[in-house]
Amino acid sequence: MDFRNNFSKRSEKMKASEIRELLKLLNRPSVISFAGGIPDPALFPAEALAHAGEAALSGPTAATALQYSVSEGYLPLREWIVGHMARLGVSCDVSNVLITSGSQQALDYLGKLFLSPEDTALVQWPTYLGALGAFNAYEPRFDRLQPGDNRTAKDIAADAEQAGSRVKLSYVTPEFANPTGITLSRAERLAVLEQARALDAMVIEDAAYEGLRYDGSPVPPILALEQETIADMNACRTLYCGTFSKTLSPGLRVGWVVGAQDVIDQLVLIKQAADLHTSTLNQILVTEVVAQGFADHLEQLTTAYGARRDEMLTALAREMPDGVSWSHPEGGMFIWLTLPDQIDGAELLQYALDTYHIAFVPGQAFFADGSGANTLRLSFSCASAEQTQTGIHRLGQAIRHFL
Ligand code: PMP
Repeated sequence: MDFRNNFSKRSEKMKASEIRELLKLLNRPSVISFAGGIPDPALFPAEALAHAGEAALSGPTAATALQYSVSEGYLPLREWIVGHMARLGVSCDVSNVLITSGSQQALDYLGKLFLSPEDTALVQWPTYLGALGAFNAYEPRFDRLQPGDNRTAKDIAADAEQAGSRVKLSYVTPEFANPTGITLSRAERLAVLEQARALDAMVIEDAAYEGLRYDGSPVPPILALEQETIADMNACRTLYCGTFSKTLSPGLRVGWVVGAQDVIDQLVLIKQAADLHTSTLNQILVTEVVAQGFADHLEQLTTAYGARRDEMLTALAREMPDGVSWSHPEGGMFIWLTLPDQIDGAELLQYALDTYHIAFVPGQAFFADGSGANTLRLSFSCASAEQTQTGIHRLGQAIRHFL
């Protein structure tokens, strides 16, 4: 039987990347991997979560924790998020907050809400692969979002119109982006906002790595900058997507969206139809753990990850041949390498895996237009000092083989 004849047209666009197949080899214990962009499990607040779980399931909260609940999300958690957003310079109330099952679900729902087939989504080149995947299901046309370039909103709108399309959203990770590690300045964030205003498009602000800053000065979220001129949250076009995946645990699948109430109300309908609500138990666990001292926990994370970033930057400076350049992230989990033009990241990965037992993610998959073959992403979040030193030394040798 070939059931594929019955697949929807939309699902035809979903395909597993070749890279993912290659990365399955990474589980071999001999491989030093800088590939997975995942938090270090040693830094999960497992004990605090265990206590919170015990309390949630043994007392009267068990009835709430194990029951169906509202699609908007657990009210005490939404209240905490209102306070958290206020600390970031965003003024909102609970009616502006929807809890999602990770920020990945928020990206899917926002794609569902804003993108009809052939609508244009502006994304950075390169951008988060999971966002391209989430939006792709809604069959958009992608165009390039490049803060600070001289392609005007008019040019972008004209190109969209010529393609029979209209720009509906700009998706951006302003802080310690995945995959580049780059942070947008205040001026660049304002430029994204201005451009979206000129195009009458929404701004999807993906703040997945917010909180993981190791140095430099914080820059307000785009949503906070928008509120400097439009105080009324319900008139703001920016939708802020947050998550506890990088700061507490991705396995809990708890994230959130903050935005204008009209948008949140519509997202609630989408969530109702899709999965009713995010796990009540997990929302309660998160609420308990953040109430016990989120700032102290973040401090532990930033100390540990900041040291790993420094270790990797030092090793790169020591080991990389001439012609290789890389980003210097102020936070997050990633460093982005640009190789000489003739080197293909996927070929380099194959060779580096076979010969040197090291892994990373070739950069091409992060580009909506399939360019960027000479780039790669390194993650420092799970690497010990020794693994970084040995692994980056081997990477230098592997690159030299192709020069
Ligand atoms: N956005 C970015 C930029 C990410 O890197 C990730 C995770 N890799 C996500 C969103 C999704 O994270 P989650 O669904 O776990 O919140």
